[in-house]
Amino acid sequence: MINYGHFIGGKHVPGTSGRYTDVFQPMDGSIRGKVALATKAELDAAVENAKAAQPAWAAVNPQRRARVLMKFVELIARDNDKLAEILAREHGKTIPDAKGDIQRGVEVVEMCFGAPMLLKGEYTDGAGPGIDLYSMRQPLGVVAGITPFNFPAMIPLWKIAPAIACGNAMILKPSERDPGVPMMLAELAIEAGLPPGILNVVNGDKDSVDAILDNPDIKAVGFVGSTPIAEYIYSRGCANGKRVQCFGGAKNHMVIMPDADMDQAVDALIGAGYGAAGERCMAISVAVPVGEKTADELVKRLIPRVESLKVGPSTDGSADFGPLVTAAHRDKVKGYIDAGVAEGAKLLVDGRNFKMQGYENGFYLGGSLFDHVTTDMTVYKEEIFGPVLCVARAKDYASAIKMVNDHEYGNGTAIYTRDGDAARDYAAKVNVGMVGVNFPIPVPLAYYTFGGWKRSGFGDLNQHGADAFRFYTKTKTVTSRWPSGIKDGASFVIPTM
Ligand code: NAD
Repeated sequence: MINYGHFIGGKHVPGTSGRYTDVFQPMDGSIRGKVALATKAELDAAVENAKAAQPAWAAVNPQRRARVLMKFVELIARDNDKLAEILAREHGKTIPDAKGDIQRGVEVVEMCFGAPMLLKGEYTDGAGPGIDLYSMRQPLGVVAGITPFNFPAMIPLWKIAPAIACGNAMILKPSERDPGVPMMLAELAIEAGLPPGILNVVNGDKDSVDAILDNPDIKAVGFVGSTPIAEYIYSRGCANGKRVQCFGGAKNHMVIMPDADMDQAVDALIGAGYGAAGERCMAISVAVPVGEKTADELVKRLIPRVESLKVGPSTDGSADFGPLVTAAHRDKVKGYIDAGVAEGAKLLVDGRNFKMQGYENGFYLGGSLFDHVTTDMTVYKEEIFGPVLCVARAKDYASAIKMVNDHEYGNGTAIYTRDGDAARDYAAKVNVGMVGVNFPIPVPLAYYTFGGWKRSGFGDLNQHGADAFRFYTKTKTVTSRWPSGIKDGASFVIPTM
């Protein structure tokens, strides 16, 4: 049994609260270990430690900070198999998918190698007589990241790398459901040469999150998770004067136009709908075929593909997807399928009774497929976060884009078509933050920014790309006048150009 404490000041420390929660192994339903849940006092002590360490780290030049990240990437590559194994065992996703989770995180660390360029300020020589004007980006101090269960490597790395590249110290509060990978990343960062106290992992639940939100020495909070918690963290963090960005839940639609390449569209829906058992904020959960003929053709092709999905334990590299994260989450997803049936959606493939031979206690569901889903149904309105695809038919393109724009979430979307006019119009007019054209999971690459609209995102700046460097720094602008010999007396009028 693994006993996770915290990682503070460069070393593992046990929890002192006496409160723990179980960490499961979803593929067989066993308890893998337990994780300590921090108190406010433990969180505050970690912040004190980080606050003491941060000024010296901020004084290290950006190139040298970037070199620590370069070494960090080397060590993640060295230990990739071990990280992927822990990730798959605690989360449930397959090992190849776990490696993808790590890799998408690493790509953001690599982007941060450019810190010396990204942190450059501006300079105007001779803005007035003897006057030069320049700006600089300075770190905020201590910042916090609060992350979800579904990408236990990628999202912590999206928080850690830009925050520390900018010269901050970080308190990471990962999901209590799969803390193993974040804890190991913190160890690797120390091995890479990061000074103790710059990256701290404090495990916990609502108590530690509230302690983060109320600690005056934490200057910024980056959150990723469900929308109700995102809203809560955004409002409490902002009320306490912090810089806050919160990325929430999603309901991602894929519009299939009558002229789409149907083979491509079906492959996209199968991969983006059921990969990682649908536990992705960029999963496609609603297919919107345009016109009855398109819908009938799509559904006819989807049914055998969903029926033949290969569900397997996380250690089976040939499985399409593995179990869900917990029994409670599996039961919640099952409850959504029950609600869809009760509200009149047509369940074409029913994954509720799937049992994995030899792993009967694992948290599995087979793939499910609904047709004739309408916008008033719970399965349409709410995020299911499971291996369930809903087909919501649209009579024409205008009703398809209206459906997407009217949904409360606006994380990602895709359109499949051979018509450049339709694709261009969709990309321009859809009220969603990340758009794919004949591309199902449009997660932008590290050097672009990632963020949803509407109730999928709260705050002004996105994750990674140039926005990350804006979020984790504050801008200072200096107006200086040389030579020192100028003496033009006191002026009572505001200076102008
Ligand atoms: P969650 O909201 O339950 O948990 C996220 C974090 O918040 C965890 O660290 C958790 O400990 C903490 N938390 C949970 N309840 C809390 C409470 N009452 N008060 C304070 N903190 C609390 O989310 P999850 O189930 O771990 O992750 C799945 C969700 O995350 C989905 O909704 C998914 O769409 C979303 N997500 C969004 C993005 C994105 O970029 N928009 C990316 C990944 C996941």
